[in-house]
Amino acid sequence: MIVLGIESTAHTIGVGVVDDDGVLANENETYTPPQGSGIHPREAADHHAVKAPYLVKKALDKARVKLSDLDAVAFSQGPGLGPALRVGATVARFIAIKYGKPLVPVHHGVAHIEIAKMTTGAKDPLVLLVSGGHTMVTAYSGGRYRVFGETMDISVGNCLDMFARFLGLPNPGVPHLEECASKGKVMLELPYTVKGQDMSFAGLYTAAVKLVKGGKRVEDVCLSIVNTAYYMLAEVTERALALLGKREIVLAGGVARSPILRNIMEIVASEYTATLHVVPPEYAGDNGAMIAWTGLLAYKSGVTISIEDSVIKQRWRIDEVPIPWVKLQ
Ligand code: AMP
Ligand code: MG
Repeated sequence: MIVLGIESTAHTIGVGVVDDDGVLANENETYTPPQGSGIHPREAADHHAVKAPYLVKKALDKARVKLSDLDAVAFSQGPGLGPALRVGATVARFIAIKYGKPLVPVHHGVAHIEIAKMTTGAKDPLVLLVSGGHTMVTAYSGGRYRVFGETMDISVGNCLDMFARFLGLPNPGVPHLEECASKGKVMLELPYTVKGQDMSFAGLYTAAVKLVKGGKRVEDVCLSIVNTAYYMLAEVTERALALLGKREIVLAGGVARSPILRNIMEIVASEYTATLHVVPPEYAGDNGAMIAWTGLLAYKSGVTISIEDSVIKQRWRIDEVPIPWVKLQ
């Protein structure tokens, strides 16, 4: 079976092609906002609309398949930025109608998890999903990915990206912030907000800005915000691990590229004799292959959507999505 998938929830437009054995093509282009500003949804959408046809062609060429060879076309239906999501959905609908292919809706967060599971071989993991839009600890149970802790406001990536932007660091913010943190010497006090299993990052950003404005050494503030944010993630992950008794931790999403977060999670895993599985860097950030792969899993379980019902969902919780393809013994 061959499935083409289109990602367009936020900064990245991506087209992936997969077959039953894995990824055949993964072609992506990322919209970079002007220095100092965040993603403007309409500008991201314009970027995606310009790049989409070329990416579809490039992915098909790389995979050595034609549109008529596809068994299905998948798209990220949400959650994400409305104008950006509509571009991917429109391209997918066009292919579905013109070539008579089934259309398969994919939840972006689920796709981050499934590509991480496929590429690392993890079977039944506890997942720490840290992407631009998501910060949550989740695991499969009873037909869904259930949430065992999440942010109450902004994502950790968003918090760190905003702070990086405030400092005038280039995009993507997190690696540059970590570079700055590597020169930090003193851990300064910042709000560490874990309530039950949920976390808050908005106040962390505000407090870090205040420290810089108050004259604290920038490198020390970078060290402090990065560590405070990641220790919060570690605490919530650790408690979920103790509760669920899972044997694997998967680190997924764009921030999974962080070597600092990986080291902290290695420690959490080793304390519970669990194994840590980190998604490879090329599949960590938003990408087309993750949508194609999850589309293939979903389509094989009978998931399709009509054109009429394929409206995008800007808000769509991961635990609302049925996951019929996961079968645990
Ligand atoms: P995603 O939405 O999954 O593409 O993830 C975007 C997030 O990943 C942003 O917060 C980025 O700053 C972050 N990110 C990108 N590259 C890296 C990296 N090398 N290390 C850590 N975080 C990164
Ligand atoms: Mg993402």
